[in-house]
Amino acid sequence: MKLIDHIRDIKDFPTPGILFKDITPLLGNKTAFAKAAQELLELIGDQQIDKVVGVESRGFFFGGVLAEKLNAGFVPVRKPGKLPHTTVSQTYALEYGTDTLEIHKDAIQPGDKVLVHDDVLATGGTAQAVVKLIEALGGEVVQCNFLIELSFLSGKEKLQGQDIKAVITY
Ligand code: AMP
Repeated sequence: MKLIDHIRDIKDFPTPGILFKDITPLLGNKTAFAKAAQELLELIGDQQIDKVVGVESRGFFFGGVLAEKLNAGFVPVRKPGKLPHTTVSQTYALEYGTDTLEIHKDAIQPGDKVLVHDDVLATGGTAQAVVKLIEALGGEVVQCNFLIELSFLSGKEKLQGQDIKAVITY
């Protein structure tokens, strides 16, 4: 069973020119879901992780699973206005305009070893903003791990010095 067979390409979603990698077929297949979780876990090896940071919203599916398997806590990074307590925020450039992400200020303690997880690494702007949030709170990013890396978009260039891993690379 190949995980890649459970990723569906959707043309021109959410905007013209984007080939969207739809992971819902993988999420809905119990064998593929378990295999993806296991392969994400293997990317980390035996490194100690205190917190898994999952990026809204598709980083939540496996972020929570990884946290449980790693005996770590789970921390959501969310779009503005969603987190109820005191937050720190990071604004980053998109192709057109900007976007902002937030994290609870008390979610990461100085010295925490953190795994960043999201479904797709594209241009790297999102992951770069998440790394900045974690480092602003004194956390140490051990790895950024993704189900999918779109390597032709060179996201790794924005994340130099970080350990970047993905289960599936296009
Ligand atoms: P980027 O900041 O460009 O690396 O984009 C990463 C974020 O956008 C992730 O949270 C992804 O869920 C989403 N994303 C970007 N491009 C795609 C794509 N082609 N298919 C699915 N999700 C994408």
